[in-house]
Amino acid sequence: MIYLRPHHGLCIHHFIGKGYSDTFISNMKNIINKLESSDTSIITLVSGGDNICSSCPNNKDDKCLSGQKPDYYDMACLELCGLNFGDTLYWEEFKKKIQTSILEPNKLKEVCINCEWLYICENLYK
Ligand code: SF4
Repeated sequence: MIYLRPHHGLCIHHFIGKGYSDTFISNMKNIINKLESSDTSIITLVSGGDNICSSCPNNKDDKCLSGQKPDYYDMACLELCGLNFGDTLYWEEFKKKIQTSILEPNKLKEVCINCEWLYICENLYK
């Protein structure tokens, strides 16, 4: 079981090996490998720190130094996907929801407002 902040489904989708630190990047790769290792990988959507935040230098005492931005991304992501904090589902199912509810209708910018990494995610489509 992997605990995931909802907007991290988008970060994972666009991950190209960049991140906040070497430790963060290495953990991100491990999480992605675990998620992709089986068609039946299960996630639980959480608010606040998850298995990705745990290796992030912005995570201080389980609080994100990026302030409320990630909270907004999570809420926007949940709303568009029709999901809630606490939902447990297959990773494959969550990926499909992100694809059909956010990426295909071109709503990434609506979710990731003012994210410092957005230029990378957008460049992947050019
Ligand atoms: S920036 Fe904040 S939300 Fe993003 S991984 Fe780091 S602690 Fe988590």
